Amino acid sequence: MKRTEPFDFYQPTTLAEASRLLKEKGPGGRFLAGGTDLVIAMKEKGMLPKYIVDLKRVPGLTGIRENGDGSLSIGALTTMYAIETSPVLRKKYPFLAQSAAEVGSIQIRNRATIGGNMANATPSADTAPALIALDATAKIVGCNGERTVALGEFFTGPGQTIMSADEVLTEVTIPKTSPQLVGEYIKFSPREMMDLAYVGVAVAYNLGAQDKKCDGVRIVLGAVAPTPIRAKRAEAALEGRALTEALAERVAALAAEESKPISDVRSSADYRRAMVGVMTKRAILNAAVGPAKSWVDRRDRRY
Ligand SMILES: Cc1cc2nc3c(=O)[nH]c(=O)nc-3n(C[C@H](O)[C@H](O)[C@H](O)COP(=O)(O)OP(=O)(O)OC[C@H]3O[C@@H](n4cnc5c(N)ncnc54)[C@H](O)[C@@H]3O)c2cc1C
Repeated sequence: MKRTEPFDFYQPTTLAEASRLLKEKGPGGRFLAGGTDLVIAMKEKGMLPKYIVDLKRVPGLTGIRENGDGSLSIGALTTMYAIETSPVLRKKYPFLAQSAAEVGSIQIRNRATIGGNMANATPSADTAPALIALDATAKIVGCNGERTVALGEFFTGPGQTIMSADEVLTEVTIPKTSPQLVGEYIKFSPREMMDLAYVGVAVAYNLGAQDKKCDGVRIVLGAVAPTPIRAKRAEAALEGRALTEALAERVAALAAEESKPISDVRSSADYRRAMVGVMTKRAILNAAVGPAKSWVDRRDRRY
């Protein structure tokens, strides 16, 4: 790794101070959370911020909170490890905890934050599909005040979001969900660990206990378009219908059609599209079976 050029470094202790620094000091500044994207970009990809504003001394940005209205908020500086091991997330949204567990290695997950995963806006960001499938919103605070945006509308392109430079993502909130909610996140990458997703699929729906009817269906694809995308035709094909393997296969074929993958050094577009079909079918069926009990169970649950 190369040494970086000198830069100014600020450690504000309030949100207002953090966004004011970005506004006053002008273009070329960056917020810092865990640094697992930013520091690598500086040392290996030649990115040279003029100054860095560290968010870690701003109180109130970390932690997982159940709210009185049944929603659940995750502070932007909460680490992937905290999400992966959170008892409440593992119980209520095991596929979200799973998506955090898929990020990098344990060393990375100890530093990487959920806010950084969103703000960096890589199309393959592992926690984005599960959060979008849960209809999560992002709370954003900047010099002009506060706003709340659906995560489904947060990403605008690779590395691009609707946030302006002085805005801090402070938390993501998952609205109250039905007790019948089931879900699954599958990251497909040929190397099982320490690789970015070739394809990521998150599926969530409410499953009727007796009739197996699916409603509130969300199918979200990562790494196969410039941003994470909902496969809306596939969602509509499953909505209101009783789950069968044949139906899951038809729905998955629609999701594959809706994906917009590119060819690059890691994989061809055709291969990625085919894998969207395979992984979507598997995710739909796995969700109905319930969360995997262990890594071995997870690995062996292949439809
Ligand atoms: C070896 C390695 C393996 C990895 N594997 C994976 C993987 O498997 N899956 C995956 O999804 N990612 C992976 N990553 C990428 C990275 O770890 C994640 O994207 C991580 O969640 C980024 O969070 P961070 O806190 O480190 O962000 P930082 O690096 O601190 O920041 C990233 C960007 O977001 C901005 N930012 C951060 N927080 C905020 C905020 N609250 N408000 C506004 N802007 C903010 C920063 O200014 C910066 O531009 C990997 C990285 C490495 C180095």
